Amino acid sequence: MSLTPKERDACARIEAWRQRMVDELAAWVAIPTGRGHVPGLHRQRALLAARLRSLGAVTHDEPCEARPAWIDPPWAHGGAAGSGGAGAGGHGSAGVGEGDTSIDVLVAKHDGPGPRLLLSGHFDTVHDPHGAFRALVDVGGGRAQGPGAADMKGGLVIALAALEAIRDAGVLLSWTFVLTPDEETGSFGSAAALARVAPGHAAGFVFEPAGDGDSLVVERMGAGQFMIEATGRAAHAGRDYAKGVSAVRVLCERVLQAERASDAAAGRIVNVGPLQGGAVTNAVPDCARAWGNLRFADAVRQAELEGAIDALASGGDDEVPRVRVRRVVGRPAKPLTPAVERLAALAREASEDLGRPLPFARSGGVCDGNNLQAAGLPVIDTLGVRGGNLHRTDEWVDLDGLVDRAQLVALILMRARECILPNP
Ligand SMILES: [Zn+2]
Repeated sequence: MSLTPKERDACARIEAWRQRMVDELAAWVAIPTGRGHVPGLHRQRALLAARLRSLGAVTHDEPCEARPAWIDPPWAHGGAAGSGGAGAGGHGSAGVGEGDTSIDVLVAKHDGPGPRLLLSGHFDTVHDPHGAFRALVDVGGGRAQGPGAADMKGGLVIALAALEAIRDAGVLLSWTFVLTPDEETGSFGSAAALARVAPGHAAGFVFEPAGDGDSLVVERMGAGQFMIEATGRAAHAGRDYAKGVSAVRVLCERVLQAERASDAAAGRIVNVGPLQGGAVTNAVPDCARAWGNLRFADAVRQAELEGAIDALASGGDDEVPRVRVRRVVGRPAKPLTPAVERLAALAREASEDLGRPLPFARSGGVCDGNNLQAAGLPVIDTLGVRGGNLHRTDEWVDLDGLVDRAQLVALILMRARECILPNP
């Protein structure tokens, strides 16, 4: 298939906007939005809202829920690995750390003909707002480094450029853009908002960075969090050792039991850590806790792992020792369904029409695409920029890729409109 005149028009406009996109990316990367940095998140959110309104969208807020307090160890105040991208990234263990968690989800609606498309991104990053990695820096070779440059402020820049080019080329689209402030820590606050917004959309498009080799991730595992708490009886380690019951020993037994449910080849992963137990070495510890992460290939494996975690609990309320567990699945698995296959084929054809292959990949990492697909629509989710070293202080983005990835997004969205996707 060759490009239509309107597709060529949109692509030419994007080509001419290369420097503008680089400048916008530099401005957004310079706004610290990592680790729940409230002022930065507010600023970035306001800029995105203004940009979306300038495209003719009407914006509104969807409130975030509180993050369950037990998910984070008491010493976690930010940082840690997040999710997204195509790699094996995980749920962060870090809370939305600084100040309040009152950053709403931003929703922008644009009316037009055809099926309604759902675009989704996040404006938080994993990076330390007070660290040295604060700005977009050209490092040569067509690359620039900066916090969130690839994951995913670059993705937001190209998505908005694509929408603008589509509009300027005279193509009307019906779309919703939903932007979350806590994706990197598992979207525990925005999951309910994503579930509220998703129904009524024909397909979802998420702007996580492209996978390795520019691949499109078409299948993802799901992820959950759990916490095991063991209670024992304290006693002086020398004088009364026999009267004590070690919570650490009980916890260790449960940790081993939990790990036995792990079978990566079968699509079930139980990863335990961090751990906490006791306060001093000369007393039998009466409390010990372990936090962990679950990964599963589908709903069946999810249920198996949930059963395995629940089976760790033991003992009545006043019994010693006793073990309590808590768990939550924040990201259901995102399987390759026939509808996702059709969407991926559309994306591949668009990419090939632009002269680039689009290999498919699968990932153990998770993103908001998991939640959107669980709400009932097919989703493809690595439509963002070409980049690498995500979540590191040498995260980079390919600057030329701003152009060709925005062109790809424009083509995919224009073609999705062309009744390839039935209305839900
Ligand atoms: Zn991301």
